[in-house]
Amino acid sequence: MAENELMINGHTVGFTPGQTILEAAQAVDIWIPTLCHLKGATPTGACRICLVEVAGARALQPACATPAVAGMRVRTESEKVVEARRLVLELLLASGNHNCAVHNDNGQSWTDFQLDVQRHDGSNDLCPVWGECRLQDLAFRYQVTSGRFKPEPGAYPTEMANPLIVRDFSRCILCGRCVQACNEVQVNRAISHGYRGTRSKIVAAGDRTLAESECVFCGECIQACPVGALVEKKSRYQWRPWQETTVRTTCPYCGVGCQQLLHVQDGRIVKVTGVEKAEPNQGRLCVKGRFGYDFIYSEERLKTPLIREKDGFREASWDEALDLVATKLKQIIAESGPGALAGVSCARSINEDSYNMQKLFRAALKTNNIDHCART
Ligand code: SF4
Ligand code: SF4
Ligand code: SF4
Repeated sequence: MAENELMINGHTVGFTPGQTILEAAQAVDIWIPTLCHLKGATPTGACRICLVEVAGARALQPACATPAVAGMRVRTESEKVVEARRLVLELLLASGNHNCAVHNDNGQSWTDFQLDVQRHDGSNDLCPVWGECRLQDLAFRYQVTSGRFKPEPGAYPTEMANPLIVRDFSRCILCGRCVQACNEVQVNRAISHGYRGTRSKIVAAGDRTLAESECVFCGECIQACPVGALVEKKSRYQWRPWQETTVRTTCPYCGVGCQQLLHVQDGRIVKVTGVEKAEPNQGRLCVKGRFGYDFIYSEERLKTPLIREKDGFREASWDEALDLVATKLKQIIAESGPGALAGVSCARSINEDSYNMQKLFRAALKTNNIDHCART
């Protein structure tokens, strides 16, 4: 093997100094499972699901936190590796209320277990992320149930206290991705690891609700959570991944142009996520981009122009409304000059419309009194 090459599953693979085994493998499409690993954040090796066998090493190594070294011989799916991953999955499944089809508690029927979980969850439905859960996917792949270990009942009640995010601690596997997403990716520093042992919990502001913390409700933690511990309140139990179609679009709120995926079910947007690996946002969104789409379906949304008269507003045609605006603008310019005009473009307009609005004011009406409303 040449310098900066290692062997993975019998294939010679090049790497850049500083890369981990995981990064070297991913660069050549060799799959190694991950749960806690968050691209761009400091590797923690917390979940141990990415364990691999390195020839000469006494123990299995976490691929996400082990540097690639020239001449290394790595096996990613050896018998020993698979056995270790199965144990990790068994323990994770038993660490809380994982009431999906992967559960098989020997001493108790699955239905009884599920009923207990439903009572805890306050819903008659299966887990809200059923079909879009990395733990569930891996349990199916490695054919693991939590049969040998009794599931933990969950030490903390579900937090429903804010309008946007549900925190279900009974499904949290303490992978830490949300903490890294909040602290390292968005740099909001609203949540951290709290307590110890079986009382371990992700806490906000010394264990208060998110609404009482520094949280700005960007929802980055939801997007990072690999299981059903953090879900959007609006779409919880309203959406199933196999029933949706996704539409890629550009966020209409500001000039950054973040790339969004609209999750559409029955012709309605049920949630919005950031497009991973796409510029400029690399999967991130702010509170407006992620949650601010209710106005689309608002009953109060204006569909016809309104003209203000003495007793209030009356509906008008577009021609009448536009003629009136043009007449008034000309009248003001004639009486007081263009400096007497000002325009405020709507925050919910697309960037192109805002561009046209400023062109109209600057080029046609000859004033720079033009701004953009930043309110949601
Ligand atoms: S979080 Fe995942 S593993 Fe747990 S119940 Fe939900 S789908 Fe199953
Ligand atoms: S919503 Fe944003 S700010 Fe709040 S905890 Fe999650 S990542 Fe942090
Ligand atoms: S809430 Fe989700 S992302 Fe955060 S530690 Fe728990 S499982 Fe991991």
